[in-house]
Amino acid sequence: MLNLVLFGPPGAGKGTQAESLGAKYNLHHISTGDVFRYNIKNETDLGKLAKSFMDQGKLVPDEVTIDMLGAEVSKHAKCHGFIFDGFPRTVSQAKALDALLLKKGTKVSGMFSLEVPEAELKTRLMSRAKVSGRADDADPKVIQNRIDVYNSETAPVKDFYTDQGKYNGIDGVGSIDAIFDRLCTAIDKLNS
Ligand code: AMP
Repeated sequence: MLNLVLFGPPGAGKGTQAESLGAKYNLHHISTGDVFRYNIKNETDLGKLAKSFMDQGKLVPDEVTIDMLGAEVSKHAKCHGFIFDGFPRTVSQAKALDALLLKKGTKVSGMFSLEVPEAELKTRLMSRAKVSGRADDADPKVIQNRIDVYNSETAPVKDFYTDQGKYNGIDGVGSIDAIFDRLCTAIDKLNS
C-alpha cells in the first residue's frame, strides 16, 4: 500500500493537491475537514460537536477525530492506499495513525509538507472565502487562530515524521501544476 500524509498550514493547498494526487496514484483521499463539513451539513451529532470547534478555528478533540478517521479507513479497507489530507494535526493523532495502519499491516510511506509563508496563506484564505462559503475562511480572527493553532499544535508533527525519516518539505508557492510536479517528484522517489 502507498499511504501519503499531505501536510501544511491552512491555505497551503492540501485539498487541491490531494485530489489530483489521489487520482494519479489511485489512492483514497480522506480530508478530515471535508468529513466534518459533511457531518455539519447533515446535522449529525458529530457535526454539531465539530462545528463548535471549527467556527473558532480550534482543533476538534483528538479522540473524536481519531475515531472518525478510523471509521473512514475501515470503510475503504480494500483500496490501494490512502492520502491523508488535514490529518494528523497533532502528535497524538500521528501516533494513532501509525497504530491504526500497523493493525492493517501497513504504514505511512511518506509525509509531504507544503511550505507557504504566513502572509501568502492569509491572502489565499481570504480569497478562498469568496468561493468556498466557509465561515472559517472569511473572518481574519479565525484565520489567525487557525495559523496559531497550526504553529503550536500541528507543526511539531514535522519532528515526529523527521525522526522516522519520512518528512519531505515541498515549496508550496507557485502554480498548482508546478507544485503538483514537485510533489510527484518527491513521491516517485519513495519507490526508486
Ligand atoms: P481543513 O478543512 O483541513 O482546513 O479543516 C477545517 C477545520 O476542521 C479545522 O480548522 C479544524 O477545526 C477541523 N479539523 C480538520 N481536521 C482536523 C484534525 N485532524 N484534527 C482536529 N481538527 C480538525
